[in-house]
Amino acid sequence: MPGFELFGAEEKKEVQDVLDNGVLMRYGFDGNRNGHHKALELEKDLATRMQTKYAQVVSSGTSALTVALASAGIGAGDEVIMPTFTFVASFEAILSVGAVPILCDIDDTLTLDPKAVEAAITKKTKVVMPVHMCGSMADLDALKTICNKHNLILLEDACQAIGGTYSGKPLGSYGDLGCFSFDYVKTVTCGEGGGLITNSETYADRAHKYQDHGHDHIGNDRGAETHPFLGYNFRISELNAAVGIAQLRKLDHTLLIQEKNYTILREALTSIPEVTFRRVPEKGVESYAFLNIFLPNEELAKKAHQALGKQGVDACFYWYDNNWHYYKKWKHLLEVKSLSKFSEEIQSGLRKNNRSFPDSDAWMSRTISCLIKVGWTEDEVKKRASNMVEAIKSIL
Ligand SMILES: *Cc1c(COP(=O)(O)O)cnc(C)c1O
Repeated sequence: MPGFELFGAEEKKEVQDVLDNGVLMRYGFDGNRNGHHKALELEKDLATRMQTKYAQVVSSGTSALTVALASAGIGAGDEVIMPTFTFVASFEAILSVGAVPILCDIDDTLTLDPKAVEAAITKKTKVVMPVHMCGSMADLDALKTICNKHNLILLEDACQAIGGTYSGKPLGSYGDLGCFSFDYVKTVTCGEGGGLITNSETYADRAHKYQDHGHDHIGNDRGAETHPFLGYNFRISELNAAVGIAQLRKLDHTLLIQEKNYTILREALTSIPEVTFRRVPEKGVESYAFLNIFLPNEELAKKAHQALGKQGVDACFYWYDNNWHYYKKWKHLLEVKSLSKFSEEIQSGLRKNNRSFPDSDAWMSRTISCLIKVGWTEDEVKKRASNMVEAIKSIL
């Protein structure tokens, strides 16, 4: 997955353009920037690559989710349905606009289970937020049907699955809004950065204002601009955006290498009948950022994870025990351990999450996800495949 593996002359050239003119901010200073508008250029490239009308780049994936929610008018007391398996950022972004994250069970796609989503809908629900974890997606047709039926917004957190598709569309472009992270460990990196995509002119127009203090960006004089509504600062810098331009150009190349490496590892593991694979919905194509496997039960998954480590197979994750990606370890979030006080409405909304999620536990306790790197040589991948098979067979 990591784009940083491909950091090279192309990224340096884009950054050098910015260093040469010294304009590190995306707005204003047109006389000095020598025609370089890196953030704007990245937005054009992102919208083109993702086949959407609009793209807004911001300072992080967390910012992208926050700006997307705000642009859709989500706020105090609204409920946003999200999966138990994600990165803490999804939860944080919802809370940061004053809405309530409502956790929901996952299925063997390792993303939102449509049946569980339907059961979680209340009068307060406004958004369904599937998170395309580890390179693959939820059953988006089923979620779209539910959203249409209940008049809800479909917001895709595609931070870990850039380049995957569903029904022939790039992930992130299927819902009303889609978000990407360009942080340092993602498939496309800006160092730090993020982006949102949409076909809605209204959302896109709100997003560019909201991420820059509500400035309307009409004309080139920040003193003369008006502010139709309040906003905050989620801007990306020209330096970060410059890196992203070169990285995004490499995406299709990255995806091809990921698929090749993934396929070699997967084919090797099919020789072990006890190992099964995450379900990818019929219309979906993964980004191949991770290979996600199931062991028959929790005990064997834990043993297999340990054995992989001992065998020198790095970057394999057992998320069930991980502090960042599975809700069970999010004590600080579930109990709202905050520096400041949250409203009683949010606190009582959050208490809805104090229940068990048996389906999520059942899948996550059996799951191991192995990162697919881009820099491996063919010999390294083959060696890795045989090490994985040996490690897993040793515990069965
Ligand atoms: C990385 C990530 C984010 C947040 O992105 P940042 O750029 O690190 O803020 C959000 N959701 C998921 C699923 C992620 O993996």
